[in-house]
Amino acid sequence: CGIVGAVSQRNIVPILVQGLQRLEYRGYDSCGVAVHEASMGSTPTGGLHRARSTARVSELQAQVAAEHIEGATGIAHTRWATHGAPAVHNAHPHFSHGPNAAPAETERAGRVALVHNGIIENYQELRRMLQARGYVFSSQTDTEVIAHLVDSLYEGDLFEAVKAAVAQLHGAYAIAVMHKDEPHRVVGARAGSPLVLGVGEGENFLASDAMALAGVTDQIIYLQEGDLVDLQQGRYWIVNRAGQRMSAEQRPVRTVH
Ligand code: GLU
Repeated sequence: CGIVGAVSQRNIVPILVQGLQRLEYRGYDSCGVAVHEASMGSTPTGGLHRARSTARVSELQAQVAAEHIEGATGIAHTRWATHGAPAVHNAHPHFSHGPNAAPAETERAGRVALVHNGIIENYQELRRMLQARGYVFSSQTDTEVIAHLVDSLYEGDLFEAVKAAVAQLHGAYAIAVMHKDEPHRVVGARAGSPLVLGVGEGENFLASDAMALAGVTDQIIYLQEGDLVDLQQGRYWIVNRAGQRMSAEQRPVRTVH
């Protein structure tokens, strides 16, 4: 339903939570946030850490504060269930812990973290293929296949893994993805669901609606169908469906008010 993501140099948890609050009016049954804990500080430690809730975003905010979840790179989601009941284990972000690992139910130490708006039509076929390769599923969502698919295709470059993964998806999606080995990167993709890029100074954002970034940045790029976006701290790039890098003229920054 709603997506917010950020790659920054400051703790972005307040921005992610506030972004979800700005999207609350659309309705949702659960919500969640994941950060890369190694993205902050001079002696970075830790990896992916998430919190999820079937209560309001304000409850998630309290949970995140109680668990001291902080990071300069993160993704967040409000879910409106299409596949799998409204429940914490079905809430996003979804993790992949890799093949032959315990079910990805723990709130720490994922390899891939992913949020998704939309519906993946061929998820059952992908689920069977990934299960045969040793991936253990911990939700009934269509979304979880994308996290494991990205993990299965990862060879050290998240952008390339997401690009290869979306080529296998049928359906509608906007996604935002993080990897434990790349603390300063979020990769996004859209087809059939909206996604915008918010350009800041030394920080970049993703959201399903520019409204989620109000007060954070008014510099917005509207991604087009089939676009992939690579967000890093001080730079971003956008590649279209044909794999071509988009110029500033092709994907202009617009000032929104
Ligand atoms: N199909 C996904 C799910 O049920 C995403 C739903 C949404 O867009 O919030 O988890």
